[in-house]
Amino acid sequence: MLQEDDGTIRITWDDGAVLRYTPWRLRRACPCAECRILAERHGGTHIPLHTSDAFKLVSITPVGRYALNLRWKDGHAAGIYPFAHLRCLEPEDDDGGERTR
Ligand SMILES: [Zn+2]
Repeated sequence: MLQEDDGTIRITWDDGAVLRYTPWRLRRACPCAECRILAERHGGTHIPLHTSDAFKLVSITPVGRYALNLRWKDGHAAGIYPFAHLRCLEPEDDDGGERTR
C-alpha cells in the first residue's frame, strides 16, 4: 500500500494484482452512511463537490486487518474502506464517467 507523488494510491494484493486508485475515485466510493445517502440522492453517479479539499487525502489508517480509514483534507474521516470493497472498485473508472474499455 503506497501513496504516490501525485496522490494516487497503489495497493498490491496478495494474489499479485496491483491496482491504483485516484483520490477522486476513492472519495466517490466512500462507504460511510453520509456519502452513501448523498450518492443515492444524486442518482448514484456522483457526490456533490464541496471543495477541492474533499479530494485530498490527509492520512490512511489501517483498521484492524480488514480495512483502511481515509481522512480527507475537508475533515471527512467517516469512511472505513474494507479491503473487499477496495478490491471491487474499478480503479480505471476514475475520470468522471468516461470509459476506455
Ligand atoms: Zn463518507
